[in-house]
Amino acid sequence: MSSTARLAGKTALVTGGSRGIGRAISRRLAHEGALVAVHYGHDLGAAERTVKEIEADGGRAFAVHAELGVPGDADTLWSAFDGALADRGADGGLDILVNNAGITVPRPLADVTEADYDRVFAINTKAPFFIIQRGLARLRDGGRIINVSSVATRVAFPAIVSYTMTKAALDYLTLTLAQELGPRGITVNAVAPGYTETEINPTLAIPEIRRRYSEASAFNRLGQPTDIADVVAFVASDDARWVTGQWIDASGGAHLGV
Ligand code: NAD
Repeated sequence: MSSTARLAGKTALVTGGSRGIGRAISRRLAHEGALVAVHYGHDLGAAERTVKEIEADGGRAFAVHAELGVPGDADTLWSAFDGALADRGADGGLDILVNNAGITVPRPLADVTEADYDRVFAINTKAPFFIIQRGLARLRDGGRIINVSSVATRVAFPAIVSYTMTKAALDYLTLTLAQELGPRGITVNAVAPGYTETEINPTLAIPEIRRRYSEASAFNRLGQPTDIADVVAFVASDDARWVTGQWIDASGGAHLGV
């Protein structure tokens, strides 16, 4: 655990926390002292590995299972969270909720099926909405809600049109809830990655695509999951107590349209 331990005594939940950006966020929040619930949908092995990595770093974490994008997903998630906290003898409160889980539909308008559309909205927009709604009673005053958005809500990415719509809706949820939850001292912010090296981008294995995606940032490189996690850790900390309703770029300037 870091000597600064900005998040000591805090409890966090990171959806999709077992791999990619979510794994980096889980590790970083735990490194700063938070007890982290690492949510996963399908890959128990990845969740257990992330928990072990956190423990090896001197942190505390546990895995929580819930498939998102199915009816009742938020209730399933919270009851798994409550059960796991009770097993640890913890009080059940939450300080930091990171809505990170997401999928993409890498298809232009003409090729998006109704099933694609429903699924990407169910996982990227509906699930965070109800996870927040059903989790509010657990979230302590002064807490944090951090929604992982995308730079694709600021610049046009026609090949992922349905995905960008889900994240734009999430941005508006962020803005609206920041006002609604302000009286409780809860901040609500969006952190927006650009092209980041994770499994959501399998085409990064193709050198030409890798080069083009790298050039989308002002720094001519791809984002790494830790680039995003460092921003999330700041927003989660008391250092960001006066920041709410913000869309925070974590894309290396891809929103500049370079
Ligand atoms: P990833 O595919 O590695 O991770 C996605 C996570 O969401 C995984 O942990 C996965 O298990 C979880 N998830 C997906 N569907 C689920 C379901 N039905 N039920 C439960 N969990 C589910 O990709 P990533 O890049 O780490 O993505 C994390 C977030 O960052 C996503 O919201 C994504 O939209 C956003 N984002 C990523 C990039 C990028 O280039 N990697 C860019 C902008 C935004």
